[in-house]
Amino acid sequence: MTKEVRIKIKSKFVSKYRNGFPLILQDAIINQKDLKDEGTIVSLTDEKNSFIAKGYYGRQNKGYGWVLSKNEHEKFDKGFFKNRLLTAINRREPFFADKETTAFRIFNGEGDGIGGITIDYFDGFYLINWYSKGIYHFKQPIIEALQESVDFKGIYQKKRFDVKGQYVEDDDFVMGERGEFPIIVKENGVNFAVYLNEGAMVGVFLDQREVRKTIRDKYASGKNMLNTFSYTGAFSVFAALGGATRTTSVDLANRSKPKTIEQFSLNGIDYEAQDIIVEDVFQYFKYAGRKNLKFDLVVLDPPSFARSKKLVFSAEKDYTKLLKETIAITEDQGVIVASTNSSAFGMGKFKGFIKKAFEETNTQYKILEEFSLPEDFRTIREYKEGNYLKVVFVKKLG
Ligand code: SAH
Repeated sequence: MTKEVRIKIKSKFVSKYRNGFPLILQDAIINQKDLKDEGTIVSLTDEKNSFIAKGYYGRQNKGYGWVLSKNEHEKFDKGFFKNRLLTAINRREPFFADKETTAFRIFNGEGDGIGGITIDYFDGFYLINWYSKGIYHFKQPIIEALQESVDFKGIYQKKRFDVKGQYVEDDDFVMGERGEFPIIVKENGVNFAVYLNEGAMVGVFLDQREVRKTIRDKYASGKNMLNTFSYTGAFSVFAALGGATRTTSVDLANRSKPKTIEQFSLNGIDYEAQDIIVEDVFQYFKYAGRKNLKFDLVVLDPPSFARSKKLVFSAEKDYTKLLKETIAITEDQGVIVASTNSSAFGMGKFKGFIKKAFEETNTQYKILEEFSLPEDFRTIREYKEGNYLKVVFVKKLG
């Protein structure tokens, strides 16, 4: 039996929740001690005990759970979850119909009405990410609801229960047929190898789809491109297909080299004509500086936090420095694609980092275009923080 608890909300937070804010913040709760087991159903009330909204208790780095309904009598059963899933799936109809793109998100947490869970589609396979033990408590009704809502080859899952969103080692297979990995998915006609059984990252970050397409279609032709924090080289593949004269991919992880070779090869690109370098990006900047290397197009897509042997990188603290080093190795009239997925700051502050970096290097610049999350990564007005992706195309004027 799922337990139910009433939690009292501090008066200064009440209007926020009445207006549809979905995240249950630790700070907003008066009687925290009553929350014991994740997965407990919670009714939020004001200090006079009048009902505000209903959700579940689940610990994530962001908060203590999510509001799921404003109906006091709502039951969080298979029918409830199926309803939310079908609404989300209907919204993705154009994605399912597009033969050129076979990997996209079908359910984006609170943006689709259930915080703490995302579901991605990879050519017939579905991948569920559970972001807390609390939401995982509802695994059975949610998986049954998914099973009844889609035709699938197989269902996989990732448990990211740790408060930092870290991955829990486990067998990720749930049901259906086991995939023969890699499975090959398409994105705007480009092939990607995807592994649903190799830890937290599957080979491609779907939220950058439009940025990759834009690079291929508008910015790559005839350019010498540098891709930093390149992972499997997805940006490099799109740049090469868009006519870049050469791409250089730099990532610290040893696995990045064979994975990048694999992605190039799947798209008929001769990887030997590209540079794939396993190195700390900050070391590479020093090397490029010494050799006087310059690039026409540079992609900067660091993780929000990273720890290497030599240093700790935090996007919030270090993005300006990263940009300054990038500006030094970018040709005049070259383009820097500055990207961050940090939810610690918004677009305004990110543009502040860009401004500061150019000012401190006495360089003029022009913002050419901006991106946030694509449509399948649905977000809601009541929770703007959910739109974590910020990508700015900046031209270095010299
Ligand atoms: N831009 C990639 C995703 C980046 S994921 C894409 O679009 O697919 C973050 C990557 O940064 C990881 O592959 C990690 O190995 C790498 N990384 C973290 N710290 C690094 C550092 N100091 N130098 C180089 N790579 C680093």
